[in-house]
Amino acid sequence: ASKASMAALHVITQLEQAGYEAVFVGGAVRDELLGRPFHDIDVATNALPQDVKRVFQKTIDVGIEHGTVLVLVDGEGIEVTTYRTETTYSDGRRPDDVLFVRELREDLQRRDFTMNALAKRANGDILDYYNGQADLQQRMIRAVGEPAARFEEDALRMLRAIRFAAQLGFTIEPMTFNAIQQHAQKITAISVERVQAEFDKMFVAPHVATGIHYLVESTLAAQLEGHFEAEQWRHVICETTDIAWAYFAICSNMDATAIGKAYRLSNKQKHFIRDVQYLVAAPRWDVMDYFRYDIAVLQAANDVKKWRNLPALTAEAIAQAKQALPIQQKEQLVVNGQHFMMWRDATRGPWLKEALAQLLEAVVRGEVPNDIEHIKEWYSREWNN
Ligand code: ATP
Ligand code: MG
Repeated sequence: ASKASMAALHVITQLEQAGYEAVFVGGAVRDELLGRPFHDIDVATNALPQDVKRVFQKTIDVGIEHGTVLVLVDGEGIEVTTYRTETTYSDGRRPDDVLFVRELREDLQRRDFTMNALAKRANGDILDYYNGQADLQQRMIRAVGEPAARFEEDALRMLRAIRFAAQLGFTIEPMTFNAIQQHAQKITAISVERVQAEFDKMFVAPHVATGIHYLVESTLAAQLEGHFEAEQWRHVICETTDIAWAYFAICSNMDATAIGKAYRLSNKQKHFIRDVQYLVAAPRWDVMDYFRYDIAVLQAANDVKKWRNLPALTAEAIAQAKQALPIQQKEQLVVNGQHFMMWRDATRGPWLKEALAQLLEAVVRGEVPNDIEHIKEWYSREWNN
């Protein structure tokens, strides 16, 4: 078991010893039953936040108004949340109020899908009030309770269903899917940041084409910016979210500025998209392209070319071409502006920048070896007359 699982187990047993009930909940329980690796481990308890803080020495109030306390054990942070239920949702996004409850069953009832409404005790017993295990067995994503009501409460759940389908390769249960189709236009109530966060996960998922297919079939795609076509994602595996957003931008025929604005992408992401788009559009890459662009950008652009059925190279060929450059960075030039000024006995000026740029290109292209003698010779020929 991982260090985090050990820490979470410790937290649960400590709470039990203090007379409370505490269980593992959420994605970690689901993923462990599926034999998948999991990241965050959540603990739920009938202890109130102030009780949780009394049981442990080190805690941080991360979301005390929602009943969540972060307990620190061995440098691990475990989120402990008091059993709660959510009252009315007037905006389709956030509950108006949070109520603490005594029973685990009530806490699990507010959770989105049956596979996410499982709990596990310290002794390993699984608590399964909503048939989550049967649905896991059938590889089925099913809303807890009445699907339409659950999507009316929180429209993000529609995207979560699709994102989980893309990650797990599961089917969305027909009644649940039908409710998504009925409520698709409600997705516009959700902030772009939360949509982006779900897309970050869906785009890099192993079954991304399934996710895109569901987006189209549910008509959610029609409510969202960009072009969605499952066929375009059929054999696509994105190693990073940056590559995925670049591919999505290209599939959508949107430039970096437009996609960045639509999904609030960072400047760094927009820059990456711009570079990939340039390289995908270029029919062949010049030596200077290999020099200017990071290997990650070059590989991403090559992957996109493959997925778009454009002529592409192998990853190895690209790595080799990059490696084979005489220098990798301009700092590797053995001379700088000081040398030029000294050799010419001249002062700084626009000529200097131009001379350095020309030298850099000549060295990268292998026209001038990167050593003082050869550069001096090149310089007196080109600039010192
Ligand atoms: P992962 O972390 O692998 O993406 P997860 O299932 O752990 O998946 P989280 O977003 O970490 O998802 O949420 C933890 C748990 O909280 C979920 O398993 C689910 O029980 C509940 N949950 C999260 N978001 C919602 C929501 N929008 N509506 C209802 N329940 C939710
Ligand atoms: Mg989680």
